[in-house]
Amino acid sequence: MGFSDLGLGDKVLRAVEDAGYVTPTPIQEQAIPIVLMGRDIMGVAQTGTGKTASFTLPMIDILAAGRAKARMPRSVILEPTRELAAQVADNFTTYGKHHALNKALLIGGESMSDQIRIIDRGVDVLIATPGRLLDLFERGHLLLSDVKILVIDEADRMMDMGFIPDVERIVKMVPKLRQTLFFSATMAPEIRRLADAFLMNPKEITVGRSATPAETVEQFLVKVATPSDRRPGVLQKEKRDALRRLIHAEDVKSALVFCNRKRDVGILHRSLTRHGFSAAQLHGDLAQAERMQTLKSFKEGSAVLLICSDVAARGLDIPNVSHVFNFDVPSHAEDYVHRIGRTGRAGRKGRAFMLVADEDRRYMAAITKLISAAIAPYDLSSSPPENAERAAEKTTSETPVVSEEREQKRSPRRRNDHRREKVPEPKSEEMREIAVSEPISPRKPVAAKPESKQEPRKEKRERTERASPGPVVGLGDHVPAFILIEPFGSKRK
Ligand code: AMP
Repeated sequence: MGFSDLGLGDKVLRAVEDAGYVTPTPIQEQAIPIVLMGRDIMGVAQTGTGKTASFTLPMIDILAAGRAKARMPRSVILEPTRELAAQVADNFTTYGKHHALNKALLIGGESMSDQIRIIDRGVDVLIATPGRLLDLFERGHLLLSDVKILVIDEADRMMDMGFIPDVERIVKMVPKLRQTLFFSATMAPEIRRLADAFLMNPKEITVGRSATPAETVEQFLVKVATPSDRRPGVLQKEKRDALRRLIHAEDVKSALVFCNRKRDVGILHRSLTRHGFSAAQLHGDLAQAERMQTLKSFKEGSAVLLICSDVAARGLDIPNVSHVFNFDVPSHAEDYVHRIGRTGRAGRKGRAFMLVADEDRRYMAAITKLISAAIAPYDLSSSPPENAERAAEKTTSETPVVSEEREQKRSPRRRNDHRREKVPEPKSEEMREIAVSEPISPRKPVAAKPESKQEPRKEKRERTERASPGPVVGLGDHVPAFILIEPFGSKRK
């Protein structure tokens, strides 16, 4: 079956052809004719299945007839994250290039006045995260009484992120007589309850099993032995060592590295950068403009590794990701499937690795149960230990895995340039963890934190000496003062 058999108009078909698509994906084949008929849909599909085009293509056709009034969007698409919303907006630009439809992207972290101006002119499609949409509605900039089509995308993720009450409020604000398209990667009982509440006689479409990793992704486990030293940070250091060796052992063109916590994204990013890798970071605490810019530069290939959290990276459509590294075993088994689904897209091959320590046993069991398969072990011991020189020499065709900064470090002529580099000041806790475990960087002044203005040097030194917990592993004779400072509120033994 081709796209022309689905009932789409000529202009949309031309845009699809321009995009280079030849055959509709299973969800497109099933959903597009039903959406064109005006029926509700409950789609169980993951990202990477062509789900976005399955609703945007017919929507463009439907919206082509009619005109938007000021402040009254004709359709609303709700997305859990700003990046996904921006991605859907890009889809509208691509597939709607032969139409004159107006769209507005309402996401937090971007200028509200610009968004208000666009809504005032009248929009056919409003693509929004729930919070920003409610914000603008409550301020009276938006009327939802003309909404004919409502799309709720990634419903399971909305639930994980606590957005369901917002979504329920929005559903109450749009007319009862409407078409609703509801998508979720999984159909947990709570999601089904919502679907029952929001949809009228929907056509249910399930694409593949809800938790099946793409067949194009080869999966491996890398065991990380639990160190005898149980201090927090030591295992993390072992994992960072293992990750670096793994990256060197693999032919990494472009990779996502997932951490479970935002804080660890920052630590790992800083560590990899200090080891000379070409890395960027993406997590929810970064400013919106920074997130967009990071994503853009990663997509363009100016960083080889993108260290990210689940929320920030969920559903991102980044072509040509050769590897996914799970630095942490995800605590929700389904996240594993989502993470590794970032590679092996559109029929390409991908490789996914997961670092596993003993303490991850429970989460690992949940993952193997979910995917109904064991993951092959990968023997990292057969790859040579990390070698900085070798690392610095390894390159990919476009961007070196090890960044040019590292190369600069090797050139005495340019050594002074690093002093001028603006290094973001790490939070002290993060700094402590890296500094304790990785005394590797002669380049960046990890320990060179400025002295506090409030406390005279002598008193500080005395306090530091009093607080000394004994020798610190990994730092040789020199122990930077900040490591020895007693944390506030802690009692000396
Ligand atoms: P999605 O599941 O919507 O995130 O789409 C995943 C990727 O598949 C995107 O890069 C789309 O551009 C691409 N795609 C969508 N439909 C097709 C198709 N029919 N043929 C080839 N690629 C497609």
